[in-house]
Amino acid sequence: MDRRAFTRTMRILESRYPVEDWSRGMTPFETLISTILSQSTTVANERRGLNDLRSSVGEITPQRLADTPEGEIAKAIWHAGLVTQKAPRIRGVARALLDDRGDRLERILALPTDRAREELMALPGVGPKTADVVLAMAAGHPTFPVDTHIARIARRWNLVRRTDYESIRAALERWTPPEKRKAWHLAIIAHGRTLCKARNPRCGECPVRRDCDWYQRKRARERRTHRRVRRAATKD
Ligand code: SF4
Repeated sequence: MDRRAFTRTMRILESRYPVEDWSRGMTPFETLISTILSQSTTVANERRGLNDLRSSVGEITPQRLADTPEGEIAKAIWHAGLVTQKAPRIRGVARALLDDRGDRLERILALPTDRAREELMALPGVGPKTADVVLAMAAGHPTFPVDTHIARIARRWNLVRRTDYESIRAALERWTPPEKRKAWHLAIIAHGRTLCKARNPRCGECPVRRDCDWYQRKRARERRTHRRVRRAATKD
């Protein structure tokens, strides 16, 4: 897929999947905790983990979570899974964000994007994806976070040869106007959940199939097979 096809595709997906901002109403710190909880689980289980954590500690703030024993956090976030990894990460990031000068996370998010990204990634348990999600969703920075849906679809569209996080992010950011990155990030995820699933993508119903490399390759393979079968039938 070239740049023109990508832009055409994204305009179609953008109108098909209106922006559903899952972070609306959350504080930036809640968005960060929600992103940590979302690792390797479904949206429903992440949300249950977040709500149970809120009920357990009263309010999701760095102070409350830093004061809560790891075991209690693990118990509260049980539905989100991987609690032995997530509970120490959550407590560790809460402790790292505590300081005497008010909300350190707000100060980080007020920095220019590259600096803010570096500072977020220096926090315990925060990798590039978590940092990009928090930057985009909590503070409107022009990052293009890459989750498993986006990585899979970028490969199907042949946007990038390499499969590492930074290569995919760079390719998407190169072709996406900064003011569109959040909306297009959400639109691709919605497409990945609805039609372009990991197994058995519903290409027949897909509005962007004419520009999709994966679909066009599949069709070319099917046509070759049909021709072979027809030739073999004629010889018989
Ligand atoms: S045509 Fe199929 S593989 Fe391509 S984007 Fe659509 S659903 Fe995904």
